[in-house]
Amino acid sequence: MESNDTPAHHETPVFGDPDLPQEGEINTADDAASTTMTGPQNPVIESQFPNQMDAPATDISTQPFFWSSFNISPRRVQRGGWARELTQQDFAISDEIAGVNMYLEAGGIRELHWHQTAEWAIMTRGKCRVTTLSRTGLPSVDDVEEGDLWFFPAGLPHSLQGLGPDGAEFVLAFDDGAQSESNTLLLTDWFAHTPPEVLAKNFGVAQEVFADIPLHNLWIFPGDEPGSLEADQAAAGVTWGATEAVIFRLSRSEPVRQNSGGSIKIADSTNFPASKTVAAALTVLEPGSMRELHWHPNADEWQYYLKGQGRMTVFNTGPHANTTDFRAGDVGVVGRNFGHYVENTGDEQLIYIETFKSDHYEEVSLANWLAHLPPALVSAHLNIPEEVLASFPRDTQGITPIR
Ligand code: MN
Ligand code: MN
Repeated sequence: MESNDTPAHHETPVFGDPDLPQEGEINTADDAASTTMTGPQNPVIESQFPNQMDAPATDISTQPFFWSSFNISPRRVQRGGWARELTQQDFAISDEIAGVNMYLEAGGIRELHWHQTAEWAIMTRGKCRVTTLSRTGLPSVDDVEEGDLWFFPAGLPHSLQGLGPDGAEFVLAFDDGAQSESNTLLLTDWFAHTPPEVLAKNFGVAQEVFADIPLHNLWIFPGDEPGSLEADQAAAGVTWGATEAVIFRLSRSEPVRQNSGGSIKIADSTNFPASKTVAAALTVLEPGSMRELHWHPNADEWQYYLKGQGRMTVFNTGPHANTTDFRAGDVGVVGRNFGHYVENTGDEQLIYIETFKSDHYEEVSLANWLAHLPPALVSAHLNIPEEVLASFPRDTQGITPIR
């Protein structure tokens, strides 16, 4: 259909609809057949992505998917708990961080192991006892609960055990997109694949001591709930204060940004010294609020959505701009230096955690940048009078306040 003058179809770019040829359903009102979908459809999935089915007219296609979800990841379920993961193999652009979502029942054990990458984690439900060893061979045994973090450097051994009454659920971030929870060095595997006489010599006991060791690995298995933390620390030889803390109580830390729109808490090596290769930000957005337009100069952003619903547009050269919807359990990745915002589109809080493969958190706020330029220079770019520019936020807000 040819039509030149209808409001829904114009020959020159307009505010909010900048591209030629125009993209977006708003441009098809005079040609409704354009949006017909004749093939097989899945209405349940489509209903979760309103900003993909009917993208803002400011979107310009396309760029690699920056949405994935633990909700579509197969669960490996064993007696004692389960895990599901998103590695770079599953989620192509996620090359800096791989994620795992795991649950351990009360007493359930993720067996003693180590791996090639560092492991950062946030507790999302319940309680968990974590053990590890420092580079100098000193032990740590600690209990973590909802909102707490842990960090195990690459190669250092550790274990996790769910505590009562409801076990533990948590999300891990490995500092390498290729790391898998199925690619870890396991205590039982090594024992089973070492000659018995070598085990006997190593531990100074008879070979028969090892007659009943498991011949297949355990990975996750049920166990008895451990006793008191103090008793376990004493039995493991923990010396209070001898090692760098491997846990951080993020939920009890002070926000670095807070206003009527929400809050941002940061955990990186400046306040959580052990966390040398993963920096994190926990963002809470009230209904109607938004994580302001910004980017990160030092690393990709790996997001895990804990609660609520939102949308994010990612901007890159081209130009490319695409908007996608996120809900609890979803994962997003934003490339280093790509502009983005996250807007709460629901009627409850939107809560998500951002992780970065870096020792520190870094961002550039668009508003802060524009507020610290000669106003005439900004005005020359945007055709906005200097006196109006003066009403823009004067510094980094992090989150837009509720108006
Ligand atoms: Mn691990
Ligand atoms: Mn960000």
